[in-house]
Amino acid sequence: MPPRSHSPVPALDALKRAGLLGTAAQIAVLDYLQRTEHGHFSAEEIHRRIAAGGDRMNLSTTYRVLGQLVDAGFVANVPLGKHHSLYELNTGEVHDHLVCVVCGRVEEFSDPTINRRRVAIAKKFGKRFVGKTLALQGVCADCTARAHPTRPRAK
Ligand SMILES: [Zn+2]
Ligand SMILES: [Zn+2]
Repeated sequence: MPPRSHSPVPALDALKRAGLLGTAAQIAVLDYLQRTEHGHFSAEEIHRRIAAGGDRMNLSTTYRVLGQLVDAGFVANVPLGKHHSLYELNTGEVHDHLVCVVCGRVEEFSDPTINRRRVAIAKKFGKRFVGKTLALQGVCADCTARAHPTRPRAK
């Protein structure tokens, strides 16, 4: 097991610097995301893993804390529609997502044309683009194959 010291900034210091209280729940969620290999997690998953580590926190607190961390810029929200979101540590790198609507697998990508266009679109509506991730939805190759296991080859 690698030591748990590779967080760039200890969670409490970072939270306080951003004007947050640094509650135990805020520290637990940020610390979890900083220590975990970069990924995209549902609030339920984050809650489950933190609880498995022995910290007591209920799911509604996890949702509230994730909202606070998104507002403060520590965490990015990947919207999946129907009030469902994934969360990831905000590394400051602008990127978008392609999400499989069946298994939830997430691919990250960055496309210079999309990046330019959204700045231009925001400008057109008199807004300054401040960064919001796109979540394109699709069905991955594995899920497509599972959905059609016996499909005969076209002749
Ligand atoms: Zn899939
Ligand atoms: Zn991402």
